[in-house]
Amino acid sequence: MLRLPSFRYLQPRTLKEAVAMKADAGPDASYVAGGTDLYPNMKRRQQEPKTVISLMAVPELKATEKRNDGTVETVLGAGLTLSELSVLPSFRRSYRAVVQAAEFVSTPLLRNMGTLGGNLCLDTRCNYYDQTYEWRKAIDFCMKKDGHICWVAPSSPRCWAVTSSDLAPVMVALGAEYLLVGPAGERVVPAARFYNNDGINYLTKQPDEVLVEVRLPAPAPPPPPAPAPAPGEWDAVYHKLRRRGSFDFPVLGVAAWMRWERDTVADARIVLGGVASYPQEVADAGAALRGKPLSADTIAAAAEAAYHPAKPMDNTDFDLSWRKQMTRVYVTRALEELGRRRSTTR
Ligand SMILES: Cc1cc2nc3c(=O)[nH]c(=O)nc-3n(C[C@H](O)[C@H](O)[C@H](O)COP(=O)(O)OP(=O)(O)OC[C@H]3O[C@@H](n4cnc5c(N)ncnc54)[C@H](O)[C@@H]3O)c2cc1C
Ligand code: SF4
Repeated sequence: MLRLPSFRYLQPRTLKEAVAMKADAGPDASYVAGGTDLYPNMKRRQQEPKTVISLMAVPELKATEKRNDGTVETVLGAGLTLSELSVLPSFRRSYRAVVQAAEFVSTPLLRNMGTLGGNLCLDTRCNYYDQTYEWRKAIDFCMKKDGHICWVAPSSPRCWAVTSSDLAPVMVALGAEYLLVGPAGERVVPAARFYNNDGINYLTKQPDEVLVEVRLPAPAPPPPPAPAPAPGEWDAVYHKLRRRGSFDFPVLGVAAWMRWERDTVADARIVLGGVASYPQEVADAGAALRGKPLSADTIAAAAEAAYHPAKPMDNTDFDLSWRKQMTRVYVTRALEELGRRRSTTR
């Protein structure tokens, strides 16, 4: 049985206290929320903090509110559990892609503990890294922890571990913003700028900064009665490829967001998870849809555009060439779902 190493555990009661504790404890400290990622990693000695600072009793991370300042409608505290996200009143209707992605994460037990913030800050994954200490030692470790070489791309100067968060691609596709609070104060960053394409330095967040809240754009207004057009409506979906439908990390995630003007796609974003170290927006796929009706031809063009830059590495489940092929299939399915929903709400 794998055991946790001993460590100091701190329980701040306010955000200010949490940030001060982290600054005092220095680089050997780590925040923890639900612990469903950090504790297994500590058991395998992938992460070895000497001090662990729990965010679970920090009330600022539990706030959920609706703001009507014209740009942001819903604010989600990063400490909400994934199960809590799924049952927020009216949330399932307004932000279906977020609920879909949250419900795809792992199992009910882990969703009861795992938080939104922990999911968005999830460590990157790789077959050569997500192993016990003894397993990693037997191959002389790798660049991400304790070693010098990348076993996936031995001549590469960087780590290619993959982003495996189900919610991160959705947040990038929706254009969400994150509020970060650290010793230097607070700042708001677009979700897309929170992630780096680097398996080791996969977040742009400073180590002492806490992800406090996620700000979602206002949901589209309900469509007016036909035949009047409903300008500016948007919708989004998330599709996930994994071996076991009941519980597995994504080896491919597709988040598709679309804004409609009458029957034309006014704007679109396609974001891929599980194929790079960051949620990868494929700008050409969005461009293939923009200004056009959603048809079999435009869907095929967008799927083709997403297929080309998707470059999965041989470091997660399934054959990498098959995973690449599946990008086309999953983007097609996601866009077809958006099309079907559009026709049923018109
Ligand atoms: C068997 C198993 C299957 C899983 N399957 C999936 C899956 O399919 N999809 C998926 O997305 N995830 C999966 N996970 C990972 C994990 O359960 C979830 O991503 C969960 O949401 C993580 O949240 P947490 O609160 O437990 O994170 P924690 O383990 O507490 O933290 C994770 C990381 O985020 C940091 N952190 C947490 N909160 C904050 C914050 N507010 N500010 C700054 N840093 C913070 C921590 O320091 C740590 O580095 C799985 C885990 C297991 C064990
Ligand atoms: S991609 Fe390379 S460096 Fe990164 S975890 Fe895997 S083997 Fe290690």
